Amino acid sequence: MSYLAITFPPDFSSENLFMAVTREAQVITPAEALSRLVTGNKRFVYGNPRYGHDVTQAAATAGGQQPHSVVLGCIDSRVPLEAIFDQPFGSICVARSGAHVLDRSLIGSVGFAVAELGVSLVVVVGHQRCGAVNATVKALRAGTVSEGEIGYLVDQLAPAVREVGIDDPDAAEKAIRAHVIRTTDRLHKVESLAAAMAAGRINVVGAIYDLDSGWVEFLS
Ligand SMILES: [Zn+2]
Repeated sequence: MSYLAITFPPDFSSENLFMAVTREAQVITPAEALSRLVTGNKRFVYGNPRYGHDVTQAAATAGGQQPHSVVLGCIDSRVPLEAIFDQPFGSICVARSGAHVLDRSLIGSVGFAVAELGVSLVVVVGHQRCGAVNATVKALRAGTVSEGEIGYLVDQLAPAVREVGIDDPDAAEKAIRAHVIRTTDRLHKVESLAAAMAAGRINVVGAIYDLDSGWVEFLS
């Protein structure tokens, strides 16, 4: 039987270890957090990701975490948020649901990341060809009523589809963008998040992920 030898990556110097330990003292601004996501997405798109899913990275963050952002995205298997932003373990909190539809649990999780984990940025990431949004467009056009759990998603997505017009040939793609904006607007109104925003401690932004190119477009 052979045993797995765990080796540290080349840049795992004592200096980096020291930085990891002292990182807790750092205050990451919303602008710096956004910059980390933008540059990470660039690395991903250009095929130069810095971070993988290496056990040494897991071990390096086992003692604590200081995530800079909480990212809310869709459950779609083509949109792994840590990968598209090329972020290491311990750097972003991730919350996902169908078409990033909000409920109390997700809002509570975002609030926890802000209040207890000290993240500086909340990002809502929609994506092209979202199955949940497509299903909603289809249901509204056919006039059918979706039951149960899927019905909840459809009900939550319907306002964005109606906003862009169900007869618009590009209703689904336009609704994805509208739904991101509606979701960020809703988060802006959550009391604890609004207070943190007013104090300049956090920012809440929307974004769209391009499945074909890998780019994330941040909405202003
Ligand atoms: Zn989706």
